[in-house]
Amino acid sequence: MEIIIHKHLPFWFWIVKMKWPSIPLDRVIVAWGSDCYTNSFISPDKVIHESVHHKQQHYSKIYGIYWWIKYLLLKDFRFSQEVEAYRKEYQWVNSQKFSRQIKFEALMEMSKHLSSEFYGNMVKQEVALNIIKNVL
Ligand SMILES: [Zn+2]
Repeated sequence: MEIIIHKHLPFWFWIVKMKWPSIPLDRVIVAWGSDCYTNSFISPDKVIHESVHHKQQHYSKIYGIYWWIKYLLLKDFRFSQEVEAYRKEYQWVNSQKFSRQIKFEALMEMSKHLSSEFYGNMVKQEVALNIIKNVL
């Protein structure tokens, strides 16, 4: 599926901003249908991560609206969708010829995000780390 990248955020992003006022507008990436929105550059690992969200939305903007409403309102749903995306991202990082240090730092960064307030403080970082590695 071809993903179109837009160098701006979607028009409805203010709704997300209302839920998370401190969300970094210069770094956030939004998947909607088969369109991807960001004010910044998307690194290859994030392309992999977002590709999971596009797939979860069946590459459809209509289904994507339903997905985003659930994502915003239900923290269990949000967490489940992110676990899938971070696992895929981690598998990609791990398959690359990066040093062990780089792979470890990437895993730490991912587990920090997954355990953060943004995803509803669902788990502690150590648990998030094992969930991403898929060893639990
Ligand atoms: Zn995500």
